[in-house]
Amino acid sequence: MNFYILTLFPEMVMQGLNTSIIGKAVEKDILHIEAVNIRDYTKDKHQKVDDYPYGGGAGMVMQAQPVYDAYLAVTDKIGYRPRTIYLTPQGPTFTQPMAKEFALEKDLIFLCGHYEGVDERVLEEIVTDYVSIGDYVLTGGELPAMVMADAISRMVPGVLTNEESGATESFEGNLLEYPQYSRPAEWNGKKVPEVLLSGDHNKIESFRREQSIMRTKKYRPDLLKKADLSIKEKAVYGVNDLL
Ligand code: SAM
Repeated sequence: MNFYILTLFPEMVMQGLNTSIIGKAVEKDILHIEAVNIRDYTKDKHQKVDDYPYGGGAGMVMQAQPVYDAYLAVTDKIGYRPRTIYLTPQGPTFTQPMAKEFALEKDLIFLCGHYEGVDERVLEEIVTDYVSIGDYVLTGGELPAMVMADAISRMVPGVLTNEESGATESFEGNLLEYPQYSRPAEWNGKKVPEVLLSGDHNKIESFRREQSIMRTKKYRPDLLKKADLSIKEKAVYGVNDLL
């Protein structure tokens, strides 16, 4: 899968994404991550990429021309116009199902805004998806692009070495994951729950399921209402009584 990230800060994006699991997937050619420096495409003799907003108001706006030309450099290279995501606090909030859906694409372009944002006309021209990473305002779209690229990459086959670990995690079936423990069996006076040492896979599975439901009820009751639960589980955990 190929990620093309249109940004004014390419080094930030590349340093952030070229490490750990994602970095290894890049080394193995499962992923290709390319930061495209929008400034390289400005036609301004002072290398400017932003200007004052028409109508007045605070801050600067990224101009349409360099963004569009950076975009065209990518689409000319790959020969078509792939889904293009503008990172913006105004979009719907990014979720795990969205990560899975985007992971089906061969190519994705991310546009990272800065300052007060990007000239609306170029957004209308190139953007297919508007996505936010949460209800707060950041200084730029680079961190959101990195968040999205990371979450999407994990859903690309071969990126996670153990395919299982992507399938049983939080948000699968609208449940949070059960608590995890590793060696030693006792640390700081706290013991690992007995059942996990029992070797009885059915009991372990039931215990984890119960923990998953209980923690979802405690931390994310909104999710639990949408979770895939049996009638019995719904009754036992009082799901129908949740507001
Ligand atoms: N003036 C814009 C508004 O009120 O909607 C906010 C601009 S913000 C300071 C600069 C850039 O950061 C945005 O163009 C966007 O690319 C990025 N950004 C900020 N917060 C974000 C969020 N929660 N999710 C995704 N992108 C965000």
